[in-house]
Amino acid sequence: MIALARRYRPKKFADLIVQEHVGAALRGAVAGGRVAHGYLFAGPRGVGKTTAARILAMALNCERRQSSGEPCGECDSCTRVWNGSVNLDVVELDAASNRGVDDARDLRERAMYAASAEGRHKVYIVDEAHMLTREAWNALLKILEEPPPRVVFVFATTEPQKIAQSAAPILSRLQRFDFRRIGPHAIVDRLRHVVAAEGLTADDDALQLIAKSADGGMRDGLSILDQVVSFSAGPVTAARVREVLGLIPDDVYGELLRLVSERDPKAVFPLVERLVDGGADLGEFVAGAGETLRAVLLANLDGTPEGLTEAMQELIARYRPLLPAPDVVRLLAVLPELEPQLRASGNARLVVELLLLRWAMMARTVELGQVLDALGKREPGSGMRDAGSGPTAPPVMRDAGSATAHAHPASRISPPDVSETGPLTVERLRGLWSRVIDDARAKSPMLGALLQVAEVVAVDGGTVVIRLLDTNPVHAEGLERQREALAQLVGRYVVDPVRIKLEGAGSGQRSAPRPQRLTEEGARAERLKSLRAQDPGLSAAVDALDLELLE
Ligand SMILES: [Zn+2]
Repeated sequence: MIALARRYRPKKFADLIVQEHVGAALRGAVAGGRVAHGYLFAGPRGVGKTTAARILAMALNCERRQSSGEPCGECDSCTRVWNGSVNLDVVELDAASNRGVDDARDLRERAMYAASAEGRHKVYIVDEAHMLTREAWNALLKILEEPPPRVVFVFATTEPQKIAQSAAPILSRLQRFDFRRIGPHAIVDRLRHVVAAEGLTADDDALQLIAKSADGGMRDGLSILDQVVSFSAGPVTAARVREVLGLIPDDVYGELLRLVSERDPKAVFPLVERLVDGGADLGEFVAGAGETLRAVLLANLDGTPEGLTEAMQELIARYRPLLPAPDVVRLLAVLPELEPQLRASGNARLVVELLLLRWAMMARTVELGQVLDALGKREPGSGMRDAGSGPTAPPVMRDAGSATAHAHPASRISPPDVSETGPLTVERLRGLWSRVIDDARAKSPMLGALLQVAEVVAVDGGTVVIRLLDTNPVHAEGLERQREALAQLVGRYVVDPVRIKLEGAGSGQRSAPRPQRLTEEGARAERLKSLRAQDPGLSAAVDALDLELLE
């Protein structure tokens, strides 16, 4: 029995799925007699590079070529090229195994021989071309500089950048085609076609799983289908595909989504035990968990995750409302640091357990009110007013220790009327100072807090001299960093460009108006303290969840 991958390998340019751009260009070149001497086919593995090269060789030597440039696929010449049988005119080389300079010399000598008969082309197909040595490329460069008539080189590679490094001059002599990765959708379509043509039956879920495992390669997709079919009789089901490929069942990822969204750390151990008992590859599980969360993220950002089984699509739909995008981003952010641990650690099980525990215990971005409602410590909607004069947005919490900053909603300041712009003088600026502070607070609470303990000392030309009223070097640094921002804020009220200069810290003449609010953190602590005082439920929540107030 001929392998499916082979039996369904395209015989025509038009059959090259996803690579229509390549097929159309090559067909046109053949039809118009404009075939180049050298081609570079770049792209991932299994997407049709060598197949396209063979179709090109078939088309050039076909005995009954169509006027469109397509080979007939049936004549003696086409059949021999397609079968890869001994052929004087088509030479296939795998650079991964023929990379020495001797082979290149050999190639050069053989290229000197013209095609076997009048009107025929000699086609060299060099697979894994990035493996060729510099010497080999030099030899090839000489050939391509003065190419013998009717000789065509096709270099196929998954890593064109390596050729750019070792053989840049040759690239300018090659016509390059970039082959695209074949998406799961296109692979499923093709598999469905093959299943029908073979008189087999297969579930859509099964084909989705195969396509996912094929990871963009049509040849791999067909090989997997072959394996599943030869594994046992009967319809191709998702369960059979999983069994053959040793895949982790969807419901494991369902349980993962449940325990993460419901924050159920005690469910972690049974889940990992089930994986280990089932002989699952934990690395594969972690990769699958990452893909699952990515699908949730994509769905929450109005994207459409591809290549999911129906069961998985339902799971994503069920859990996405419980896992808002910022949370998923933070869950996913843990993964990169884990991968080396997973490889290095002798105890992958523990590493995975710790990951899932971290996910299950990671506090989420929630509104304070939600925390309180959930704790039942507060009448829903009861007034818990903002204690300070700060922003009116609901307070937002995050877990302490998370390095990921919570993005606060972009504040907008309406620019002042043009009529308000005027000359830059100390008096005018002092009069405007409270408005500048308000503007600053809307832009950055930190800057707002700093300006409350700063005063305008002098105006010298376009330079505004600012003095901090306290001696805290951290505040001086903070204001120094925000000089540009402050210049812009002040600049809204004056005609000419403004520069900001900081005078040496603290004359000590005046005490800071509200020293406890000098920094963002101080402001938060103060606010949290007053909120805690108002609501014992919040106090309990803060302690229980190790929360920290944002904004
Ligand atoms: Zn033919």
